[in-house]
Amino acid sequence: MAQTKYIFVLGGVASSLGKGIISASLAKLLQARGFSVTIQKLDPYINVDPGTLNPYEHGECYVTEDGAETDLDLGHYERFSNVPTSQSNNVTTGRIYQTVIEKERKGDYLGQTVQVIPHITDEIKRSIKILGNTGKYDFVITEIGGTVGDIESLPYIETVRQMRWEMGRDCCVIHLTLVPFLSAAGELKTKPTQHSVKTLLESGVQPDIIVCRTEHPLYDGLKEKIALFCNVDASSVIESRDARTIYQVPLMMRDEALDAEVLRKTRMPIETAPDLKKWEEFLYKLENPTSEVTIGLVGKYVELKDAYKSINESFVHASATNECKVNVKLVHSEEVNRKNVAKKLDELDGILVAPGFGERGIEGKIEAIRYARENKIPFFGICLGMQCAVIEFGRNVLGYKSAHSTEMNPDTKYPVIDLMEEQKKIKGLGGTMRLGVYPCTINKKSKVYDIYQTSHIQERHRHRFEFNNEYLNQFEEYGMRCVGINPNENLVEIIELDDHPWFIGVQFHPEYRSTVAAPHPLFVDFVAAAMTHHSKK
Ligand code: GLN
Repeated sequence: MAQTKYIFVLGGVASSLGKGIISASLAKLLQARGFSVTIQKLDPYINVDPGTLNPYEHGECYVTEDGAETDLDLGHYERFSNVPTSQSNNVTTGRIYQTVIEKERKGDYLGQTVQVIPHITDEIKRSIKILGNTGKYDFVITEIGGTVGDIESLPYIETVRQMRWEMGRDCCVIHLTLVPFLSAAGELKTKPTQHSVKTLLESGVQPDIIVCRTEHPLYDGLKEKIALFCNVDASSVIESRDARTIYQVPLMMRDEALDAEVLRKTRMPIETAPDLKKWEEFLYKLENPTSEVTIGLVGKYVELKDAYKSINESFVHASATNECKVNVKLVHSEEVNRKNVAKKLDELDGILVAPGFGERGIEGKIEAIRYARENKIPFFGICLGMQCAVIEFGRNVLGYKSAHSTEMNPDTKYPVIDLMEEQKKIKGLGGTMRLGVYPCTINKKSKVYDIYQTSHIQERHRHRFEFNNEYLNQFEEYGMRCVGINPNENLVEIIELDDHPWFIGVQFHPEYRSTVAAPHPLFVDFVAAAMTHHSKK
C-alpha cells in the first residue's frame, strides 16, 4: 500500500464545536470514495483512560472490542465508519507519560535527561504512527482533544508541527473554529478565527484547511477574508452550519468538498465521487418516519446529554430501520417509587433500564421493571438494567424480599447478583472490569435467537458483577429463562421472560455495536415491539 496520509483535526476558539463529528464525517466521505480510514483521538488529560471518570465529567465511557475504555468520540467514529476501533485509537497524556516513565525506569533512556521534547513528543508520534504502520489504512485521522492554546495541548501541537515538517504533503492539518454571529451588530465575526490561527502559528503550525462552525451561512467574501488573514486557499475554508442531526454532517461536508480539499492537499487522486447512497437512504428514513413511539430511558444521569450517548444513537439507527420516530424520554430513577410509577411510566411504549454503578436510583429502576413486567410493556435491561430485572424477579416472583446485588448490599441474604470469581482478588479500579468482547451462545428456543438469527454472537462488556448461578434453576422454574450463556465461563449473558411480549435483559452492551450501516438487532426489534404495543393502546 502507498504511504499512509496523516490528517490532524484541531479545534480553536471554543470547545464542543464538533471535532469528533467532523472527523467521523471526513472518514465516512473518504471511505465512500474507496479509501481505508481509521480515526484516533488524543486526549490531553492525565487519567490513563476515561474508565474511572464520572459521566458528569466526561459523558459516556465507550468500550472497544479489545476492551479499551475510551472517549465517547470513538463511538461516533464506529457509528459513522462501521469499522471497529481499538486501544490504539484513544491515547491520553496519562498513557503517554506512563509509557515514557516505565521506559525510563527500565533504563531505556540511560544517561539521557528525559524531556517533553523529544521523549514525550516521540511517544505521541509513535502512538499516531502505530495505526499507519499496520499497513491497513490510506488515511489516519487524528483528532486532538481540547482547544488550541490550552497548556496541556502543547506537546500534541508540537508533535503535529514535527510530523507536518517531516512528512510534508503526506500530512494535512484541519483547524475547526467558531465564527460567531453578533446579533447586536447583525454580523458574523471572523476575528476569533484569526486569533486562533495566530495561536497555532505561534506553535509553528500553519493549518491547511479551516472548518468554520457557524449558525448562519458564511456570506460572500467571508471565506476569502478568512483565507487572506489565515494564509489558506479560499477553497480551503469550509463552512460547517449547525445541522438538524449529526448524521446530516457527512452530506454537508461533501457539499462543501471537505474530502476533495483533503485529497488535493495530500496529493491523492480525486477522480471518483463519494458513494453515499446508503447513507442518504438512512437519512431519508430517519427524517420521514411513518409512525411514532415513546420509550422511557430509566437512569440516574438524565440531566446529562452525553451520559447515555450510544444508547440514544442506537435508537436513532433503530428508528430509521423501522421508519418510526423514537422519542426517548429520560426518567430519573431516583424519582420513581411504587406510588408514582404508574403515573410516570403510563404513556410509554417501551422501557429501557440503563447501565450504571452504585446504589443511587436502584430502587426506582427495580420499581420501573416491576411495572413493565406486570403491565406487559416491552422491557429492555442493559447490564445493571438486566441485573435489576433479576433482583426484581427474585423479590417479587420468587418471594426473596431482600434479594439484591452484593454491589449494593454485600450482606444480602439472597445475593442473586454477585461479584465474579475473577474479580474477587482485584484491588485497583482502573481497567480492571470484565471488558471488551466475549462470545455468547444463544438457545435456539428463544426470542433473542429469532432476533439475532444466529446462536453465536460476540458482544462487548463492562461489568464486575454477574447473575449468581446458584439461583438459576429457581429462576427458570418460575419463568425467567437464561437464553444466552458464555460458553467458556458459564456466565449468564441474556435473560428473558416467556409470558411477556418483550422482556429481555443483557449483561453486555449492545449499544456499543450499533452503527448506521448495521443497526443493532436488539434495538431494532425492541422499537418494533414498542410500535406493536403502541398500536394496541
Ligand atoms: N455495576 C454493575 C457491575 O459492575 C453493572 C455495570 C454496568 O452497568 N456497566 O456489574
